[in-house]
Amino acid sequence: MKPVLHLFIMIDACGWEILQGRPFLKGLAPHRRKLESVFGYSSTCVPSILSGHWPDEHRNWCYFVYDPEHSPFRSLRALRWLPSAVTGRRIFRRWMSKFVKVQLKFRGYFDLYNIPFRFIHLFDFTEKKSPLQPKGMNRGSNIFDLLEEGKVPYFVTDPSRPEEENRDRLIADLEKQRIDFAFQYWAGLDGLLHMVGNDSPQIGTKLDVYEDWVTRTVEAAKRNYQTVRLHVFSDHGMANCDTLVDMRTVIEALPLEFGKDYAVVYDSTMARFWFLTGRARPLIEQALAGMPHGRILPEEELRHYRAFFEDGYFGELIFLMPEGVLIVPSHMGERPIRAMHGYHPTDPQSYASLLTNYEEVPDHITHIPHIHRLMEAALPSTAPKP
Ligand SMILES: [Zn+2]
Repeated sequence: MKPVLHLFIMIDACGWEILQGRPFLKGLAPHRRKLESVFGYSSTCVPSILSGHWPDEHRNWCYFVYDPEHSPFRSLRALRWLPSAVTGRRIFRRWMSKFVKVQLKFRGYFDLYNIPFRFIHLFDFTEKKSPLQPKGMNRGSNIFDLLEEGKVPYFVTDPSRPEEENRDRLIADLEKQRIDFAFQYWAGLDGLLHMVGNDSPQIGTKLDVYEDWVTRTVEAAKRNYQTVRLHVFSDHGMANCDTLVDMRTVIEALPLEFGKDYAVVYDSTMARFWFLTGRARPLIEQALAGMPHGRILPEEELRHYRAFFEDGYFGELIFLMPEGVLIVPSHMGERPIRAMHGYHPTDPQSYASLLTNYEEVPDHITHIPHIHRLMEAALPSTAPKP
């Protein structure tokens, strides 16, 4: 028997609201807490958990940024002549994304999404490394750097393998007592929620499957470790999208040229603008004021949520939709999806959850980056704290 296992299981999008009224893991993880998430998508929530730092510190925020000087995508511009019936297809985009990821040696998650090839040479992609590996942050350290430094043997999910395979790999490591720390990351619920929404009966079925997997993992742990510190948590929640807004048509009707006067990335819940000429900002701000939904986030609010970037790297103006409103078409997708996250952190469905068998979760664990403080318990006391 080994003394202690620090077991961290992240179920993507298993938000606080989704769990209300469900007995999910009440037996194994009776201590439950609502956590405030971080403003942004999984591209920022997961790195924030893994590093214990905020977006303005680690600079893993949104995926695509306007940065023609550093764009690695120049060669893809040739594809602009292909008919959009081909380049707009999800299957083509997925295949291209895999090809580009290998060509450019990107280590993290990569998807071309719906960025038009006509403009792709103007953009850079900000997650070239994998936050799930040591030295994987854009800035600063993550838990894996500290575990390696402290020589703590650990397991981490390989996101290129199916969930079941990662489940079995971890259980095998536990049976062999090979590790003292595990970070298991299951993404399937997030994908399902995007498709069917948070009130579908399929959600309960999926949670039952996860309950079984967590139980099997914990049983294997208890056979091999005297103490198992279990933490099951999420990075954010999920809101159903019942209202669609076409921002692109409104902005493209302005007497401005994309790439000359302005640049924009339409994420699915926010639009991020860069202004290249003096006349672009007033015209765009005026158009935004006329939008039926959404608002410009003031600097002080972005600062409060630790997502203000002094250099405007991720956009000089951030326009955010209220919960339930989806930007369609966007650079993330041409067609609507049933549910989305990435709304304001205090919108009801945004909150994340923390479920644990550990009674003494300190009061200062209130936001998802604080999960890192719980993970630090696995480090030898001599290891430097971040
Ligand atoms: Zn998602």
